[in-house]
Amino acid sequence: MPVANQTIAFEKNTAFVLFGASGDLAKKETFPALFGLYSEGALDPSTKIFCYARSKLTVDNLRENCKQYCRPSTGGNDKFKMDQFFKMVTYISGAYDTDDGYLRLKGEIEAFEKERGVTQPHRIFYLAIPPTIFLTVAGQLKKNIYATNGITRVIVEKPFGNDLDTSRELQKGFKPLFREDEIFKIDHFLGKDDLKRLLAVRFANPFLNGTWNKDYIECIQVWFKEPFGAEGRGGYFDVVGIIRDVMQNHLLQILTVALMEEPVANKAEAIRDAKVTLLKSMEKLGPKNVVSVGQYGRSTDGKLPSYLDDDTVLNKESKCLTFTEITMDVHNDRWEGVPIVMRAGKGLDEDRVEIRMKYKKNVSGMFAGCTPNEFVIQFHPERKIYMTFNTTAPGFVDNVHQVSLDMTYSDKYAKDWVPEAYERLIRDAFLGNPANYVRDDELDVSWDIFTPLLNYVEGPDAPEPEIYPYGSTGPKGILE
Ligand code: NDP
Repeated sequence: MPVANQTIAFEKNTAFVLFGASGDLAKKETFPALFGLYSEGALDPSTKIFCYARSKLTVDNLRENCKQYCRPSTGGNDKFKMDQFFKMVTYISGAYDTDDGYLRLKGEIEAFEKERGVTQPHRIFYLAIPPTIFLTVAGQLKKNIYATNGITRVIVEKPFGNDLDTSRELQKGFKPLFREDEIFKIDHFLGKDDLKRLLAVRFANPFLNGTWNKDYIECIQVWFKEPFGAEGRGGYFDVVGIIRDVMQNHLLQILTVALMEEPVANKAEAIRDAKVTLLKSMEKLGPKNVVSVGQYGRSTDGKLPSYLDDDTVLNKESKCLTFTEITMDVHNDRWEGVPIVMRAGKGLDEDRVEIRMKYKKNVSGMFAGCTPNEFVIQFHPERKIYMTFNTTAPGFVDNVHQVSLDMTYSDKYAKDWVPEAYERLIRDAFLGNPANYVRDDELDVSWDIFTPLLNYVEGPDAPEPEIYPYGSTGPKGILE
């Protein structure tokens, strides 16, 4: 019988199976994260990593592919650690849609578990594959390699659907195969240390949370600005667009954690409940929420290519949005009437991902009219949390000016190992902690909010994207 308690931590002899091990995500994120965990002592050396894909590769190929993406460990000696780590890795080549490869994989997993004396297997399956084959692989793994007398956890990459209907279809497809507590749906922003920190910053500092409401906050801005375009990923991006790529998931997650009420406990389900409650109080998005949409053209000096110049963008008449700015409304007692602006774009003038809470102006008293405070959580280019604070300069001058109360990670925690998002998420899957994974109802309501917007910007009455120069601030008319 499969074991129901998913909070059990996998400590020894876990079989970690990586489907799509030959791919981009595996190379840039999954292997570096596994190696990072191993080299910092957070992945038990008794773990076995079974890699699976159709390509005929060797473990040495995998090592070579991911080498440049693995960051140095805090303790050094990385060559030795890399040698030891890759002894834990094995590679099996096979198809995704027929039994043959899965049976060979099963044979190898069972041989490993037998050799280690495992009686109740712990198996984690990571689907680092295109969404088009999620269900094929999920069905095959359930049929052939599910831990029938142990615990199975399946990590599924984003995107989970293209809209509300397709997301529900996928959920329906997974339902007969796995219980919800066996599925770990990734939004890697949830693994970011900064977002975890936001919980502590808000709820462990009551003075701050006490001012996070409509009485004190003038407006909220969530930004995602990338200084590069679709370069080389146009095939993927052209069917996804900026809204699905980062707004419906990453930016919405940031906003949700920033605006939700305090969870009733520091536990996975309580945190996810609080998020769902907040999401349910957000108004569905539609035409009235669109401030601006755009697609990047060539840079003003003509040196940087337009979106349509990109070789990987096949549709040369594509109207795909590389920039979108929207307003959002939350209808609850805390946030009613507070303007929220979400903005995301590629090919812009800077690299910046942040949420900015702008406080109201001081309208009375001896310092009436002084510059309002801002509280900012920045994810890129530097991890930092800071607040602008009014004070006077030392000496004889008496004018009020702003300083920054600043918590920059690299200053504060320079010597510490700060886990990257994928490191945290993979470790959470080993620990059986789903707090930083997306629950079905959360996914459902997030698509419910965004689907009418997607229908509008991709429908017959879609607004014409404004062409903005690569490297600029984006389309004209964006809100300040
Ligand atoms: P890839 O396109 O690199 O695909 C991964 C592997 O899947 C490939 O190496 C290939 O392996 C196999 N594959 C590719 N296309 C097909 C196909 N049509 N049919 C069957 N097998 C196929 O994807 P990524 O690694 O970029 O992404 C994997 C998942 O992670 C996706 O769901 C993606 O949306 C998500 N993701 C990716 C990110 C990234 O930065 N790359 C970021 C966030 C999420 P082989 O041919 O050897 O079997």
